[in-house]
Amino acid sequence: MSVDALRRAYDLATEYLEHVGTRPVGARTSLESLRSSLAKPLPDDGVDPDRVIEELARDAEPGLVANAGPRYFGFVIGGGVPVAVAADWLTSAWNQCAGLYVVSPAASVVEEVAASWVCDLFGLPKSAGVAFVTGTQMASFTALAAARHAVLARAGWDVEARGLFGAPRVHVVLGEEAHTTIFKALRLLGLGSGDVVRVPVDRQGRMRAGALSDALRRLDGPTIVCAQVGNVNTGGIDPVGEIAEITRPRGAWLHVDGAFGLWAAASPALRGLVAGVERADSWVTDGHKWLNVPYDSGIVVIADRESHAAAMAVGASYLQRAESETRDGIDWGPELSRRCRGFAIYATLRSLGRRGVAELIESSCALARRFAERLVAVPSVEILNEVVLNQVLVRFAPPNGGDRDVFTREVISRVQAEGTCWLGGTTWQGREAMRISVSGWNTTESDVDRSAAAILDAASRRDR
Ligand SMILES: *Cc1c(COP(=O)(O)O)cnc(C)c1O
Repeated sequence: MSVDALRRAYDLATEYLEHVGTRPVGARTSLESLRSSLAKPLPDDGVDPDRVIEELARDAEPGLVANAGPRYFGFVIGGGVPVAVAADWLTSAWNQCAGLYVVSPAASVVEEVAASWVCDLFGLPKSAGVAFVTGTQMASFTALAAARHAVLARAGWDVEARGLFGAPRVHVVLGEEAHTTIFKALRLLGLGSGDVVRVPVDRQGRMRAGALSDALRRLDGPTIVCAQVGNVNTGGIDPVGEIAEITRPRGAWLHVDGAFGLWAAASPALRGLVAGVERADSWVTDGHKWLNVPYDSGIVVIADRESHAAAMAVGASYLQRAESETRDGIDWGPELSRRCRGFAIYATLRSLGRRGVAELIESSCALARRFAERLVAVPSVEILNEVVLNQVLVRFAPPNGGDRDVFTREVISRVQAEGTCWLGGTTWQGREAMRISVSGWNTTESDVDRSAAAILDAASRRDR
């Protein structure tokens, strides 16, 4: 078999990565033009693989967004550290099925090791169950399935066998700022998203511990509480230590959505921000955001290994499987056949080491502060959040008076069109804001300075 297409892909990929820092960051095309170049008729006879790869790269390029480059600040996305991309390539070439030890002993053991490193890095219990899933969405689904098992088992109900028909009511309590993926996980688990108890948050979007305490006092029976470390807008972190103090004595399960914010726990300098996080029952985070591993890479950690296995393991003998000598991926996550996500995480953690991970996280936070300082030096610019992590919310006053919401949206579209950097908008507590997320491994001070200058330039222009 010829592997020429692989060589061609290697050249195209490395060429792309070498130049990604100099191209406009946003996509440079329209829906119509992408469709007209990509929607070719499905051929009756196949096309030469080299040519397919060549033309795929050529036709897709204008529609690619340069988040692999250093000046993409939209959402919390991150790029891919080269070692992670390299391991991801091997993952595809090896094509291992990570569901069972027997079909890939290497995948199983690499994930076992990566799991222990993840717990170690975050200061979570060594005995916890870990699964590698597509992203935080499925990580929360997995964790909340274990939570559902545990709180119902304590009430004498076997949810795996009997389902939710006739089950005791499970209360779900979460902050007003809980991420949309929590609600989807609740829907998928039959817990529903419409009847949850929402706890008020402060100006940074952090759950108010006092209000949680009041809410729990009014509830009786099986209860799951979802906290968040790292609000997608502000980076705000729920007071998880205090929250654990409140949930523990009540026997409520405490789940922590730390899609990006949990990485603060991996930095000695930032760990204080998430103090007490290790006292929760389950944690979820992404490898594909701040660790800069390619998609798809979500991680779930569950302290109660038995509840984890009860919810996820196949077959009735789950306890036996939980203690079995070899690790079968199928017993810890929702999928059977899947790629071995552990390879890229293993390679990245080993290459960065503890210090490298901490530096990656700390440097994004320092760059976010630098961004805020550069921008706020101009009087018409307002920063709406406390810049505790990598998030900056910015609002602009028009040079000659006028509506700040309208003008802030205008500045965002000017910046997107200009192309030096890319970032998006959000509505924060009723006000329009530009949202800057710094999470790329290759962003430097000079990228931040150039981007801040481009933003200030866009904000100083009166007309289009
Ligand atoms: C991104 C994010 C999620 C969802 O993560 P996916 O990897 O996209 O599934 C959930 N919670 C928070 C706080 C996030 O930032």
